[in-house]
Amino acid sequence: MTIETADESLSSAPEAPASHALWVAVATPAHSSVSEPLSYLSPAPLPPGTLVRVPLGRREVLGVVWDSPAGNEPSLPHGVQARSVLGVLEGIPPLNESWRRLTSFTARYYQRALGEVALAALPPQLRDLTPEQMARRIKRKAKADKDGALGPEAASALPPIQLSEEQQQATRQIASEPGPFLLYGSTGSGKTEVYLHSVQQVLAANPQAQALVMVPEINLTPQLEERFLERFAPIYGESAVVSMHSGMTNPQRLKSWTAAHMGEARIVLGTRMAVFASMPGLALIVVDEEHDASYKQQEGARYSARDLAVWRAREQNAKVILGSATPSLESWHASRPPSAEDPQGGRYLRLNMPSRIGAAELPRVRLVDMSQQPRGAVFSPPLLRAITERVERGEQCLVLLNRRGFAPVLHCKDCGWKSDCPHCSAHQVFHKIDRTLRCHHCGFTQRVPHACPSCGNVDISPMGRGTEQLEEQLAALLRNVITPERRAARVARIDADTTKNKGALEEQLAAVHSGEVDVLVGTQMVAKGHDFRRITLVAAVQPDGALFSSDFRAPERLFALLMQAAGRAGRDAHYIAAQGGNPPEMWIQTWHAEHSLYAALRRHDYPRFASEQLQERTDAGMPPFAYQALVRADARTQEAAQAFLNAVSEAARERQLPGIEHVFLFPPVPMAVQRVANVERAQMLIESTNRSALQHFLAAWQEVLHAARSDHKAVIRWLVDVDPQAI
Ligand code: ADP
Ligand code: ZN
Ligand code: ZN
Repeated sequence: MTIETADESLSSAPEAPASHALWVAVATPAHSSVSEPLSYLSPAPLPPGTLVRVPLGRREVLGVVWDSPAGNEPSLPHGVQARSVLGVLEGIPPLNESWRRLTSFTARYYQRALGEVALAALPPQLRDLTPEQMARRIKRKAKADKDGALGPEAASALPPIQLSEEQQQATRQIASEPGPFLLYGSTGSGKTEVYLHSVQQVLAANPQAQALVMVPEINLTPQLEERFLERFAPIYGESAVVSMHSGMTNPQRLKSWTAAHMGEARIVLGTRMAVFASMPGLALIVVDEEHDASYKQQEGARYSARDLAVWRAREQNAKVILGSATPSLESWHASRPPSAEDPQGGRYLRLNMPSRIGAAELPRVRLVDMSQQPRGAVFSPPLLRAITERVERGEQCLVLLNRRGFAPVLHCKDCGWKSDCPHCSAHQVFHKIDRTLRCHHCGFTQRVPHACPSCGNVDISPMGRGTEQLEEQLAALLRNVITPERRAARVARIDADTTKNKGALEEQLAAVHSGEVDVLVGTQMVAKGHDFRRITLVAAVQPDGALFSSDFRAPERLFALLMQAAGRAGRDAHYIAAQGGNPPEMWIQTWHAEHSLYAALRRHDYPRFASEQLQERTDAGMPPFAYQALVRADARTQEAAQAFLNAVSEAARERQLPGIEHVFLFPPVPMAVQRVANVERAQMLIESTNRSALQHFLAAWQEVLHAARSDHKAVIRWLVDVDPQAI
């Protein structure tokens, strides 16, 4: 591809009269009520999508020239003078219409300013470079590409892998049907291979085609990148595959973004942010582990990258594959097959891949009824025995506990003191490794006191347990266990604390893969996606908490997590056979062995679990049978936060805002963690069975929310979360 570089990249000559009025989207300060593009003057007309530098207040900022709203010439409030565009980033082709539609839809749907969304969707470095710097970079890159281009003769594809019957069926349907597709495939059924094949088909069919592949976590991108490079670098060259995630440096992000925008990158791999990548040739989007809550952004515009992927695919005429072993109930419901009562069925096409590759078995699920076990035992005797046997045979085990630190709280038995965070309504977690108490909400950290701060008792003790404690206890319990290599069993831990440094996770995972670790203790971080070859036993030691959570999605998340975790065991049928054929196992220690969630898990019966949950959701009128939004207010006091929410709710009723007759406004309540960093938080749920009525209402309500702030000075911030994932 040739790139035209302008030597005169700063095109606003001072003497030329600035005569063309334009709309430009800029990132206006949060909470200003300006949500539309601003108008500027330019000496020459500029097409929508052009990147420009413009003055904003006293700063010079990046902006995107925007389409003028139908029949609406840029105009300014009376007495305000339009300012001139300062420069144009000439080397970069304008962002195309479908990208602009995607960002403006996102802003509208998630109730944020257009400029904020559009600018946040661009790589950060683009904001800082002058047009001259940008032009120089593009020139340099064009030269490097010319020098290092792969000729077609360099292309030699790997021998194609023989797809299983189920994989063939799925890829055929993806090729011939319009979709959207829900690829419902067991863990280890070879979903990734289906993605690779579908990408290959799409890229081979059209030399301009591009594919976007998303995964929920940054730590899954290196392994994905490796598989895609291995497959596609020999055909399209190394530079055809780029990544986009927040773990990259700003120059790396700019480079990937530019390559995708220019069409040089044929494949973009990334986390949720990648859904906004500018990809003019976009022909296929894959959302792997589509049920994962990480696809929902939790600050700024709280978008769902999965939902936007489906929207974007439809808009840009691309195909979209959502893949999961435990789909979100929304996607499951949307992919229901037609039936007598429901002849249309859902909007998505469900593709089933129930079998694991190579005749590998799904692990047997074993429930340990903790009420029948010795009191206070963290590891029940049968589980400990099972782990010991596996380690003695040289197999690996994974022990899952979704709570890091040593203990969730320290307490004094004499006076009842607890290690509460002084700034939050939460306990400070005890981290034994550095003898600190740390708040996982605000980060406040203290040394562990030598005695009870309240009564002086020196005997303060941990209550409950976290991964640190589990690791320590397990090491002690297994200290006499010897592996076939005649060495002592090794226990290691992977969680957010052990992986803070760059590269730490890769290093620790490599140690597991190479067999240096016998038992791995970890949080959900290790339960997802990883293709462990020698793990044959997975245990969840204390999963019950989520069964009785106030969040209606908690059981869905627990089921998905446990299925995912189980999916780490017994992935390699050859290994299992070589080890003597002992079936892989998933152990669950529970006080509620009769719970229907565990009964479904035991049979790996996601459809049954889903249909029970969907029945409950229908009865209770909850998503996917209703649509929700949350409004949250943060203030110095809980009363002030709630007063704000009451006022805006009242105003909405008084003014009879559009859509209100279809919308139910619940009373405000304190959030589950009510106070964080000395800020009181309250929220209010808004619900409707009519999505567009909810949208109309929220749009009309914005003005009320903005206006109410001036009467509620104690309110620090408010925000709207559309389709919230956590309630
Ligand atoms: P999933 O994403 O469904 O959990 P993967 O795509 O990671 O499963 O596949 C599991 C394992 O099986 C991987 O090691 C993969 O390389 C291998 N695999 C996938 N499809 C095939 C196939 N058709 N033939 C042989 N091995 C395969
Ligand atoms: Zn005390
Ligand atoms: Zn705190």
